[in-house]
Amino acid sequence: EIAYYHDRFVDVDERVIPIQERGHQFGDGIYEVIRVYDGEPFTMKEHMERLEKSAEAIGMGLPYSREKIEALALEALERSGIQEAEIYMQITRGIHLRQHHYPDPSEPVLSMVVKEARKLTPEKRAAGVPVITTEEIRWKMCWIKSLNLLPNVMAKQKAMEAGAHEAVFVDQGTVTEGSSSNLFIVKDGTLLTHPATNAILHGITRRVILDIAEELGIPVEERTFTLDELLEADEAFLSSTTMEAASISAVDGRPLKGGRTLLDRIHARFVERTKKEKVDS
Ligand code: PLP
Repeated sequence: EIAYYHDRFVDVDERVIPIQERGHQFGDGIYEVIRVYDGEPFTMKEHMERLEKSAEAIGMGLPYSREKIEALALEALERSGIQEAEIYMQITRGIHLRQHHYPDPSEPVLSMVVKEARKLTPEKRAAGVPVITTEEIRWKMCWIKSLNLLPNVMAKQKAMEAGAHEAVFVDQGTVTEGSSSNLFIVKDGTLLTHPATNAILHGITRRVILDIAEELGIPVEERTFTLDELLEADEAFLSSTTMEAASISAVDGRPLKGGRTLLDRIHARFVERTKKEKVDS
């Protein structure tokens, strides 16, 4: 494991955050999580684009050029020596005497952690994971990958306490997304997922899956679906950088049909891409 804070590489356990760091006091910042397969970051470009979009959305500049941030991430990766890694990257609005409004000028601060990737166990990958539902209580700008994750943290805790793997937000009957994942269902051969609106994070894995579906000629509809549709779906799965695509076995203790014809085809192609990018690059 290796970490970076502000302008230097540090030990992950080193105490480096100044008390008036705005990420720490307000959650005033944004982040990304990038998966590394066999030493190669996967979909780095897409993650950097989303990072830039999130920064812009909160009126914050980046502390360095995108090229330099990428170079630092690669350096951190190399220093870590980890092949199957996860790069956590966050940028905050910096360090300033505590005030709500933006410091002027503000000096954004980058931090990073590179560690061993969290992976779904082969058992969970095969059997699927149970989820619970929870009321959608988040704000109206969920597409920004903001550090403010309290509702997500609380939802995930609720899932853990229920022995489930993920909590799925439901907004007046409509399924939005998981606390740290997007959601897909299959009905009569069509792949459905919530459209990329303000109500969800526009997951990079979600995008890759839609792209693969198109490649495989699977009909796709980006439209909202209800909790009832989830319960009656032929297939249902979660997507995220860490989970890739993972079947949902049950919702609130009710077993689903558990089909995985399209999921398995899509996931196999996903795994190929994580290898192919390495060959191509
Ligand atoms: N939705 C939320 C709320 C998330 O936090 C995440 C990732 O952590 C995702 C979806 C999945 O996004 P990605 O595929 O880019 O990891």
